[in-house]
Amino acid sequence: MSDLPTWYFVGLAAVFGALVGSFLNVVIARLPKGLSIVHPRSRCPRCERPIAWHENIPVVSWLLLRGRCRGCKLPISIRYPLVELATSLLAVACVRNFGPTPWAVAAFVFLAALVALTYIDLDHWLLPRSMTVPFIAVGLGASLLPDGPGIASSALGAAVGFASFAALGFAAERILKKEALGGGDLWLFAMIGAFLGVKALLPVALFASAQGAAIGVVLLSRAKRKAARSAIPADAAEAVTALPPPKPTGDEELDAWVPPDGAVPFGPFLALGAAEYLFFGEKLVAWYLSVISFQG
Ligand SMILES: [Zn+2]
Repeated sequence: MSDLPTWYFVGLAAVFGALVGSFLNVVIARLPKGLSIVHPRSRCPRCERPIAWHENIPVVSWLLLRGRCRGCKLPISIRYPLVELATSLLAVACVRNFGPTPWAVAAFVFLAALVALTYIDLDHWLLPRSMTVPFIAVGLGASLLPDGPGIASSALGAAVGFASFAALGFAAERILKKEALGGGDLWLFAMIGAFLGVKALLPVALFASAQGAAIGVVLLSRAKRKAARSAIPADAAEAVTALPPPKPTGDEELDAWVPPDGAVPFGPFLALGAAEYLFFGEKLVAWYLSVISFQG
């Protein structure tokens, strides 16, 4: 394998990643609704026109169709090609970082699951256990690969990830007198621990909270400004600044619960923190430790 040039694997990863991204779009749209992700073929939601294979080429088809259904001209969300492009780039990043190795494949599987979970959480404020729990098992298996964290660190990562978030949620619930962390976040954090090992948990939690807080402040102030502009009664504007209400726990069917303006789910930030740790974690932690030891 190693006598093939690097560009060959990078090209292969780019194409394979885009195809996986196309599949993730289907997963994101159907899995939370409990629909099959294999049947039926994708159709236009308005004119029911089946999408032919040549209209389903990642990124390219969307550009050729100029983002519209060929039958009824219904606009197709730009999110579809963006998910395909992002997944393609993540596959390339895995090959460039880890080489053409089994661990690169495992890292990509992990990232692809995180992409799907991110968009499902953004759409529905839900992290389906039907996805996170099987991927904990995949992470435990992948930990045995060369470059993997090893089974002990992986199993401990899953257990500590789950327990620490459960304890944190319990404490926050006692203090805030309401549910503070969604039930789905526990399983996602356990899945991250299974793939990256126990020592990744603290850095991932820190990356996620820091970026979540930064984005949260921006979105809240924007929502506040919007509320002020549209001059809704004061109590409505106040509701925007309050803590986001608890998100639905686990796998209940989608209900009428609507998140307030300016609120964001935490799952995408955990996913972002995990991806950052996967690619840069060791370097960031080593740098941090060297700074501390230099001062101390
Ligand atoms: Zn159509």
